[in-house]
Amino acid sequence: MLQYNNIRHFCLLPEGAIALDATSCQPCGFISHAHSDHTGKHELTYCTAETESICRYRMKCKPTQQFRVMEYFKPVTLGGLELTAYPAGHCLGSAMLFAKSLASGKTLLYTGDFKLGKSVTAAEAVVPKADVLVMESTYGSPDYQLPPREQVIAELLETVRDAFANDRSPVIAAYAFGKSQEITKILTDNGFKVQQYDTIYKISQFYEQHNVSLGDVTTLKKGECADEDRVLIVPPASHPYYITHHKIETIMLTGWAMHESTKYRYEVDKILPLSDHADYNELLKTIELCEPNVVYPVHGSPDFVEHLQDKGINVMHIDRATQSMLF
Ligand SMILES: [Zn+2]
Repeated sequence: MLQYNNIRHFCLLPEGAIALDATSCQPCGFISHAHSDHTGKHELTYCTAETESICRYRMKCKPTQQFRVMEYFKPVTLGGLELTAYPAGHCLGSAMLFAKSLASGKTLLYTGDFKLGKSVTAAEAVVPKADVLVMESTYGSPDYQLPPREQVIAELLETVRDAFANDRSPVIAAYAFGKSQEITKILTDNGFKVQQYDTIYKISQFYEQHNVSLGDVTTLKKGECADEDRVLIVPPASHPYYITHHKIETIMLTGWAMHESTKYRYEVDKILPLSDHADYNELLKTIELCEPNVVYPVHGSPDFVEHLQDKGINVMHIDRATQSMLF
């Protein structure tokens, strides 16, 4: 029997003996979504059907590897816990985990990566009330108050339109799973044709399989020449690998765009603040919705704890010593 160890990504719920988003192999783990910094090859994995499909592909799981599929809002029992997946609004299949101790009745919400509000490719997040909130807080700084999403999307569409009007083909750099498909859907819904780098296209097939149609999309294999009349979507590090015989306009979409230097770091013509993570205001809104007695932020700016304390919120750092005492 494996022991719980090397849990980089928090955290262990002792009554149910389940590790949350651990990246190393565990006897039993919950995977909130299939981004590689949240996945591990566990003996038994709890996750949504969409996350299972993408994990099996990305992690090259053996068919014998065990998954227990969770449907949103349908509780399952594990040891002394009742576990329920809630939509997280981050990417296809992303889920928060709501855990209830059957002994004490205490509740905990673990968000994983999440985003409030509507998305064209992910189920909208639903935040239940819980006693303990373990919250991913990537943008836990007031510097990251993103403009309204409709405004950013309007600017993206205008940038793409202008590029074509000026005989430039738009090339958008975006992460292969999640952001790429969301941008694709936004573009095709607005009448643009899209070409995706093949690693992105392969992931897009899982969206189609799970009934999220992305519209008019073709694939571009390494070394092939891109179509002039399509918006090309490539992973951020792939610039040298595609070929174009025409002028291009490079665009990056990330919440980090709120920081002045990001455009230069990514070496793109245009950068826009579109994110699949909750911004600062959404993090505060999540606490308001959840009404927890205590908040444990993970993966954010260390200053976030102080910001919350200043607002009178009971907030604590989570570490190995506390992670097994959350209930
Ligand atoms: Zn993620």
